[in-house]
Amino acid sequence: MLQTILAPNPSPLTGPGTNTFLLGEAEIAVIDPGPDIASHHAAILQAGRGRITHILVTHAHLDHSAGAAALSAATGAPVLAFGDADAGRSPMMQSLVETAGGGEGRDTAFRPDRLLRDGDRIEGADWVLTAIHTPGHMGNHLSFLWEDRLFCGDVILGWSSTLISPPDGDLLDYFRSLDRIAALRPARLLPAHGDPVAGPLPRIAELRAHRQDRTAQILAALRDGPAKAADLAAQIYDIPPPLLPAAARNVLAHLIALTQLGVAATSTKITAESDFSLR
Ligand SMILES: [Zn+2]
Repeated sequence: MLQTILAPNPSPLTGPGTNTFLLGEAEIAVIDPGPDIASHHAAILQAGRGRITHILVTHAHLDHSAGAAALSAATGAPVLAFGDADAGRSPMMQSLVETAGGGEGRDTAFRPDRLLRDGDRIEGADWVLTAIHTPGHMGNHLSFLWEDRLFCGDVILGWSSTLISPPDGDLLDYFRSLDRIAALRPARLLPAHGDPVAGPLPRIAELRAHRQDRTAQILAALRDGPAKAADLAAQIYDIPPPLLPAAARNVLAHLIALTQLGVAATSTKITAESDFSLR
């Protein structure tokens, strides 16, 4: 049995809010307890008929993980995740921790009770989940496979493309995670924001193509000369001004990926303000 409880935290980045999933009858796994909001905790505690035995967190962003400690205290259930907010970063992103800016929504206080690795199985009385490491949106991001369905956190959203903000976000990791999810051939995705995605392979292909189109736009703009991520975002994106800072973070992720691939370069160490040029 699967229940979805929508947290009351709608915003441009979270869409309608965070989906908290409750899986199981006698023993319940809570997947993404969501933000630390008392009414949301109460809704989770009242929803299931059984006992909450596992609290699983896809990644250490406040809208997913901040409610974990209170829910664990109320139920005695352990919190399971890949690691804290710093865990699972790629070497490239680790090298940019001091300079890349970013850090939106990080839950720096998050400490799981039990660390999960790729392929780990988590079992309740009437369900089995497999942890799948899916970095890209955040280094410590896990998805959870349940039969032919995948709880995919923020990797694939029901309504928009996900934020990739270095040094937590890594575009090359994100592409690998999309491929990994496609290879699992899930019948249905259950994103942490927005509606489920049935038959998700076309959606995954669309997201990949969307990022490749962005890369092409950035490369075309760089042919006019060196540019910063924020200027490229203003030039390329057709969105309301309040969303431009997030777009600039996505563009920076593309520029760093192009640097890793040897296509672009900076004259100094990479920062959010760096001028990137074609090589
Ligand atoms: Zn997130």
